[in-house]
Amino acid sequence: MKENLQNLELILATISDGIVVVNQLGVVQYANDSATRIFERGKLLGKDLAVPLYPSDTSQEINLIRRSGIGWAEMRSTPVTWNQQPGYVIGVRDITARKTADLQLHLADTVFDSTREGLMVTDTKLSIVRTNPAFSQITGYSASEVLGKTPAMLHSGRHDNNFYQGMWVSIYTHGHWQGEIWNRRKNGEIYPQLSSIDMVKDATGQVCNYVAVFTDISKLKNTELELDFLAHHDPLTRLPNRLLLLSRLQHGMDMARAEGSHLALLMIDLDRFKDINDSFGHVLGDEMLQRVAERLLARVRQVDTVGRFGGDEFSVLMEDVTGAEQASRAANDLIHALSEPYILSSGIEVRIGASVGISVYPENGLTPELILQQADSAVYQAKSEGRGRFAFFSESLTQAARARLDIEVRLRHAITEGELRVYYQPQVDIASGRIVGAEALVRWQSPTEGLISPARFIPIAEATGLIGDIDDWVLRETCLQGQRWRAAGLPPLTLAVNLSAYQFLQGDIGQTVADVLSATAYPAPNLELELTESALMQHETEANETLHRLKALGVRLAIDDFGTGYSSLAYLKLFPLDVLKIDKRFVDDIPLDRNGMEIVTAIIAMGHALRLNVLAEGVEQPEQLNYLRTQGCDQFQGYLTSQPIPAAAFEALLRQTTDQV
Ligand code: C2E
Ligand code: MG
Ligand code: MG
Repeated sequence: MKENLQNLELILATISDGIVVVNQLGVVQYANDSATRIFERGKLLGKDLAVPLYPSDTSQEINLIRRSGIGWAEMRSTPVTWNQQPGYVIGVRDITARKTADLQLHLADTVFDSTREGLMVTDTKLSIVRTNPAFSQITGYSASEVLGKTPAMLHSGRHDNNFYQGMWVSIYTHGHWQGEIWNRRKNGEIYPQLSSIDMVKDATGQVCNYVAVFTDISKLKNTELELDFLAHHDPLTRLPNRLLLLSRLQHGMDMARAEGSHLALLMIDLDRFKDINDSFGHVLGDEMLQRVAERLLARVRQVDTVGRFGGDEFSVLMEDVTGAEQASRAANDLIHALSEPYILSSGIEVRIGASVGISVYPENGLTPELILQQADSAVYQAKSEGRGRFAFFSESLTQAARARLDIEVRLRHAITEGELRVYYQPQVDIASGRIVGAEALVRWQSPTEGLISPARFIPIAEATGLIGDIDDWVLRETCLQGQRWRAAGLPPLTLAVNLSAYQFLQGDIGQTVADVLSATAYPAPNLELELTESALMQHETEANETLHRLKALGVRLAIDDFGTGYSSLAYLKLFPLDVLKIDKRFVDDIPLDRNGMEIVTAIIAMGHALRLNVLAEGVEQPEQLNYLRTQGCDQFQGYLTSQPIPAAAFEALLRQTTDQV
């Protein structure tokens, strides 16, 4: 019996549960070692444990107030008779550790579910095993839609394999990766997220999960973009600022250098803008600047960059310009556009002028800063010369460009004011010596400058499109004159009119010629139209169609200045031509330059082979005529007979020579 008790004592001392025996008053009669450890109150014998005692066998959870903190215990009390007295045996199990873990788990769950960051947990095979509500909110996928799938379903396609490889290298080597990823939402939208991915190991050190925490940063990104935009743009007009313009300038210069083209920077300063600000206030001043920006944007080409440098300073960067000419035209156009009245929102009408300074690359500066500086000083130049005008950084460019613009303005005027004249230069049949026709050549009789040669204004007229009006007028005038000469009984003449490439390719020249012929009743076979090689070569297919349309009207077609372009005779065979005019350059070689003379001979022979009438231009000397005659050239035109002369003088000449012949 005694031995049995000792064994029992031994067992009670070794089990981890506490065993306590109390009497009916709750005073401890017996406690094993574990009970002493659990309650943390020193020796328990004789102490009142103050735990609830139940008459029947029940188990309960109780809180333990202990020196080490609050703990939890599971307690079971069983009524017994101990030393002939009624009492209880109490079994106590410390469940603090489990309880705390439970609570922590619950806490973790709460955090997991309530956090605003998306969470995604995968197993080692990258199957998604858990997501939180924020994940669904951001990606648009519910948990059930993604469980068992891999995160690849979120890929946006914006990153290449290298990107993901780098990410995994970091996870394997550091257990962690953090960075920005573009992912795709369920609705297809691609968005940026800031992600942090961790590798999770279990107690044994084995990788068991990957956890990704991410934030949708699309809003942040937008702000970033906006900030970036603001760093490079003027907030009022949203035009590029100085910083951005300088970088575009650099880029443009690189391009121009590579392509051998030019670039122009126009600095625009509003004249007396300060007055507007002062008299109408800043609000209207700001509105005014916005309107200026709109006008500038509306006038420039797609490739040009309009910028604002603050205050009333704007700029236009023109890339790929042919040269100063084009820049000055644009400047003039902008000055005019800006000077139109502005009706501001308050109903006030405001007028303002602008001065423009231009610098050109590579003629002027070779660095962006220099170009800017030069354009700047050119603005001052323009302003000091009286505002509302442009100035180039270099004086000579300014002069030349202004002179051209001046001619342009006056030429416009000349057309409407009847300052143009047609002069006629005889065309002579070499065999008979008779004047068989004339070339109509335009002249500008300026009231201030006298007779201006077409060499000075035709190129400008061509660049501006004014040539269309001029050619139409010359054509009509010539047909009228030809009809008058016919009525006056003069011998039949072929009158030749020059058509510019512009006129030939732009307008409906076939219709124009038909209209003029029917309006003047001049016979089509007596009208010859002169075209240059370049006009024919620019758009061969259209050119050929146009030529056939003209030919169908019955007019004659001549190729002018032959030999100065690149066409071969064989090529000309494709076009329905009647006359070939050998350029004066070759005639000039007669009689001294053997080489040139051989070319003339060859052109005549080949022209004839193509059944073309061959006419030599610019014949000044009898030797030249003699040579042409021996080579069988059909006609000639040149100072040897006459310079281009007014209609009346031509008529007199015609009557006189006809009598002689
Ligand atoms: P083009 O059609 O080749 O005209 C011949 C030019 O050579 C004329 O110059 C004429 O005056 C000049 N010329 C004729 N014989 C001689 C000569 O023996 N010696 C010298 N040194 N020159 C001679 P112009 O009238 O100054 O015209 C120059 C160019 O202007 C013309 O060359 C033509 O391309 C263009 N042009 C003239 N009138 C018109 C027109 O009404 N419309 C168009 N589109 N172009 C025109
Ligand atoms: Mg001609
Ligand atoms: Mg010619």
